Amino acid sequence: MIYPHGNKSDKELSFLHRALEDLRVDCEKCFGLCCIALYFSAFEGFPVDKEAGKPCINLKSDFTCSVHRNLRERGLKGCTAYDCFGAGQKVAQVTYGGHDWRQFPESANQMFEVFLIMRQLHEMLWYLTEARTLKPASPIQDELSSIFNETEGLTHLSPDSLIELDMAAHRNNVNALLQRTSELVQNKFRGGQKTSSRRQNSRGRGLDFIGKDLRKTNLRGANLRGACLIAADLRGVDLSGADLIGADLRDTDLRGANLRDSIFLTQAQINTAKGDSNTKLPILLTRPTHWSND
Ligand code: SF4
Repeated sequence: MIYPHGNKSDKELSFLHRALEDLRVDCEKCFGLCCIALYFSAFEGFPVDKEAGKPCINLKSDFTCSVHRNLRERGLKGCTAYDCFGAGQKVAQVTYGGHDWRQFPESANQMFEVFLIMRQLHEMLWYLTEARTLKPASPIQDELSSIFNETEGLTHLSPDSLIELDMAAHRNNVNALLQRTSELVQNKFRGGQKTSSRRQNSRGRGLDFIGKDLRKTNLRGANLRGACLIAADLRGVDLSGADLIGADLRDTDLRGANLRDSIFLTQAQINTAKGDSNTKLPILLTRPTHWSND
């Protein structure tokens, strides 16, 4: 058991990395699914406005991206922020057994639809894997393991069965457990000062901190679920125990901030933020190469 991300043994770390291996992006095993299946717009940091199901103008015939090395320089933040949590390679290699949508054009639209469903399931698996490693969540370990196994099982369904899934119901069940995990962690970091579930739910999502200076705000154990932190100043802030699931961190200044024990943070979120060598990150995430070393 890891608390939350620190003080872990090599064995625990190795277990965690193995568990997350299949949930990390591996574009070489995918058929460019995210660059086709998604609707996107230039306003959101993608190359152009595009309908769902149409290939991006930069997608090459071998399913690689012609501007992959320069996404950041081109301001394509939508592309750099997107994370399929390994759903692309799962759909390509497992669900469809390595047969790409060009070989079977009649099933192309189905494959794109399945990818969007798989992406949701893999995202849930990522968060549930993390939740299972958090010591404060030990009272709900059995429930977390059970829903993790159920979710993992769903990822092996046939395309038709995946499309028929009641995703909203399953997502609600997963979210309820993640929320309880979050409360247990946050209460720990608030020194036992409990917050009711009702109040917890009322925070985070919908919070607008665009461009705000939060350097003097106490954010230990904060509920920042879905918060908009675009270009907010979090330099030097201690975010231990803060729940950042779905928070928008585009251009958020995290220089010198302590996120080592923040929860439900993803690599894609970090890739869109600003940071430096003094930013402390959760052990599962890597420091973006574009962050300054000052
Ligand atoms: S620019 Fe590249 S990464 Fe972005 S959607 Fe197009 S092909 Fe995909």
